[in-house]
Amino acid sequence: MILKQNVMNIPFIDFQIMHQPVKEEVLQSLSDIIDDNSFILGPSVQEFENNFARFSNTKHCVGVATGCDAILWALKSVGVKKSDEIITVANTYAGTVLPITMAGANPVLVDCCEDTLNINPALIEAAITAKTKAIIAVHLYGQAADMDEISAIAKKHDLLVIEDAAQAHGATYKGKSCGTLGDVAAFSFYPGKNLGAMGDGGAAVTNKQEIADLIRCYRNYGQSKKYYHDYPGWNSRLDSFQAVALNAKLKHLKNWNESRRESAILYKEGLTDLPLIIPVEKSHNESVYHLFVVRCKQRDQLQEYLSKHNIQTGIHYPIPIHKLGAFKDYSFNPEGYPVTETVADELLSLPMFPGMSAVQIDYVCDHVQRFFKT
Ligand SMILES: *Cc1c(COP(=O)(O)O)cnc(C)c1O
Repeated sequence: MILKQNVMNIPFIDFQIMHQPVKEEVLQSLSDIIDDNSFILGPSVQEFENNFARFSNTKHCVGVATGCDAILWALKSVGVKKSDEIITVANTYAGTVLPITMAGANPVLVDCCEDTLNINPALIEAAITAKTKAIIAVHLYGQAADMDEISAIAKKHDLLVIEDAAQAHGATYKGKSCGTLGDVAAFSFYPGKNLGAMGDGGAAVTNKQEIADLIRCYRNYGQSKKYYHDYPGWNSRLDSFQAVALNAKLKHLKNWNESRRESAILYKEGLTDLPLIIPVEKSHNESVYHLFVVRCKQRDQLQEYLSKHNIQTGIHYPIPIHKLGAFKDYSFNPEGYPVTETVADELLSLPMFPGMSAVQIDYVCDHVQRFFKT
């Protein structure tokens, strides 16, 4: 047990734990880039693409500017066109859905499951129309969606499957890596992700050569070679500096994910017998706990209580996709997302980062328990 008089500050994420061990290596490699001017698509990007393909157990990795871009290029590379319909889940980050609209396609939302809060595969078939082209399966909070069910539906209706693996670097489903479970997968390297750059970054991974080749063109002004703009692409390259940070941090990712999983076990032990729903991890999944999301009817009061005691928390996400102004031009069934709407008022993400100590977790759990006693 912790000493109760100790006052601690618990950040939502402690970046220093991750960045101090790689700082020297990163600074040296940045210095090398400044000396040899390899700023755009330099050797550090290629090296990272090779390393991350190996980490994800895929044949190809293409580094891009952001996770959102990775989803956009994934959609374009599988042939998504204007007015196509793309099915995804109402309980996700806007970054899953904005690329659908950027591609000119129409998002079609289905509700999430009560337990994992991932897309409910039982609701997908009813959402399929003649215009449906693909399903974006989001592995939310670090846990894989129900990919066998999703793939079976996709196969039956001749749809493509894109994984939004922005929160699931290193997660597995039935022993297989997230990123290998569909036609193409998108990762984000936003600093707070399990593998984060020191700025923005993203990547698409796939086993299909033709998809990788297309994304390589799209991310570089649609060029197949210099000045041959064969596709309407954009400037969306992974930055050489960011690739340096990613190469250094990737070496630690496996340990960092294990550390998150250990923290999740301690949290679950420390939060039993409370009016609180703790994350459900399906037995065939190995979640990488990008977030540790609990559900609580008095969410706002609990968050305020923890904040008063210097424990930072987050809400992922407070507003369901179908209620966001960005998507007001699309018609969503206002009664279609009861689970997503209920949980949006209950979700609370507790501090979660690699290297979080047992004392810190105990401190958080202790304060959650105190909240319910007061
Ligand atoms: C972070 C995130 C994205 C977007 O990634 P960016 O790198 O911020 O563009 C998309 N989908 C999900 C689920 C995410 O968590």
